[in-house]
Amino acid sequence: MRDYLLTRRKLLVAAGSGVLGVALVNTVTACSSDSPETPSAAPASQPEADLGGWTRVNMSFVSAYLLIRGDEAAVVDLGVANSSDQIAEGLKAAGSGWNKVKHVVITHLHPDHAGGLEGLTADAKPTFYAGEGDAASIISDREITPVKDGTDIFGLRVVNTPGHTLGHISIFDSSLGVLVAGDALRTTGGGLNGSDPANTADLAQAAESVRKLATLDVKAILPGHGAPLTSGAADALHKLASTIS
Ligand SMILES: [Zn+2]
Repeated sequence: MRDYLLTRRKLLVAAGSGVLGVALVNTVTACSSDSPETPSAAPASQPEADLGGWTRVNMSFVSAYLLIRGDEAAVVDLGVANSSDQIAEGLKAAGSGWNKVKHVVITHLHPDHAGGLEGLTADAKPTFYAGEGDAASIISDREITPVKDGTDIFGLRVVNTPGHTLGHISIFDSSLGVLVAGDALRTTGGGLNGSDPANTADLAQAAESVRKLATLDVKAILPGHGAPLTSGAADALHKLASTIS
């Protein structure tokens, strides 16, 4: 518990320090119609901000997120096919490796999030999870465990956030207030936005999911597309929830 208090303080300190992450370049099509981020983000040599064990692997237009706690690691989303080595670089930079990853959560079935199951290193032997509404539609030779709203994975809470896809899930780390939002939220297109309407299965459900996320005690938002929001995240989320329809 004490560690969490310390890391929370670090998280708050990190809030003003800007972009986190491992800058890695990849150019492929996205499930978001927004342009890729301008490459003014962090150079690879820039030290990462401390998000209480969370690290972003920035694959240009889409991100994976790593959580290192003790000797174990979790990964949320896998990028496009054959992103295994890029994620390995992020794990290495964070002092871990694929052999330490025990949990991989896939927020939804789109190929820029679930595609990385293809070409994944044989060193990776985690349990794979996806929302029960999407899990059966993810094509892979790896077994995917369907999870329900409220399921605990490595101390992280599964939050069903349908709309972008019908089985989309987000991950909430309540110990730090870190929300890994998949494509339920994005920071491309200026400020915090909901699911890109051009790539949303059900807009009304997506709006309802934003309102649901706004009920959480959120301190930082880690979206699939765009930079992490580590300052003013709760205010931005409440504002979005009150205006989205
Ligand atoms: Zn998507």
